Amino acid sequence: MKPRRIPKIEPITLSETCNQRCLFCSAYRAMPAHTDAEIAAIIARSDRQVIIGGWEPTVDARLEKIVRQAKSAGIQNIAVFTNAIRLSDKKYADRLIDAGVTGFNINFPAHTRKLSDSITQTPGAFEKRVSAIKHLLTRRDRTAVSLCFVVSSVNYKILPAYAEYVADNFPGIEHVTLNMVCVSGWASIVVSLVPKLSGIEPYLKAAACIFRKKRLTCIIDNVPLCRMRGFECASVAARYIVIDGAKSVAADKTYLRAACCAKCSLNEICLGLRQDYYDLNGSKELLPSRKSARSITEKILEGKR
Ligand code: SF4
Repeated sequence: MKPRRIPKIEPITLSETCNQRCLFCSAYRAMPAHTDAEIAAIIARSDRQVIIGGWEPTVDARLEKIVRQAKSAGIQNIAVFTNAIRLSDKKYADRLIDAGVTGFNINFPAHTRKLSDSITQTPGAFEKRVSAIKHLLTRRDRTAVSLCFVVSSVNYKILPAYAEYVADNFPGIEHVTLNMVCVSGWASIVVSLVPKLSGIEPYLKAAACIFRKKRLTCIIDNVPLCRMRGFECASVAARYIVIDGAKSVAADKTYLRAACCAKCSLNEICLGLRQDYYDLNGSKELLPSRKSARSITEKILEGKR
């Protein structure tokens, strides 16, 4: 198998701690925080966009200052990836928006308090997160609000109900990303958290159909196209390839092509299988396709998901 590396946006990593203890935390043992000098260099190298993430950026006292720094450097899109607990403090959330945050991407791992608090191992976090999202949605003239659902073995079966809940309770959400958990951080230690692609496919499909019916944009990351049968247009990778020519993919992900990919009709619009998933489960679940890559490309270009 030949490794493929795709271009990346350089995220700014803040803090080496978090106010949650998510079961699948990918930052664990993996993310040293950037120094002020490194952050200044990243901002200087950035074009129109910066992503500020890490463990939990809102617990780092530098966040507001860095947002202002990026804004005064002329960066147009300043996105913060967060669990949103601290944003339940409306004054703090408003200060970040006033400083220049143009988008919040919020880790929202379940739509029930019980499951959410058990995944995050943080009692009380669910209510704070919901309150923060509802407040941020009142500010969408200034900032976009998106959600991220990390698909793991403990939550994938709730996906259809989750889609209904989000569409009904958070009108105005920019988009929802369903992100297959990476085998890194805690999930590389507790590998039972990583579900099989074949197992999650029907749940992803059901959720994608509900989001489509409710007219809410849903995109799906880290899942090869042959495990997105009938909803391929939601693939983050295919969209990057078709729309951006794979020029701007966040994070340093490595994908692999299996031998069977050579005879797959979707080869040209698929990045293949993540290496970390392959190392854990191999490539037996891949299903080389005979579908028309052209028809999927056309639907993506038409804005269909
Ligand atoms: S068989 Fe390979 S190229 Fe085809 S969709 Fe699956 S991962 Fe992508």
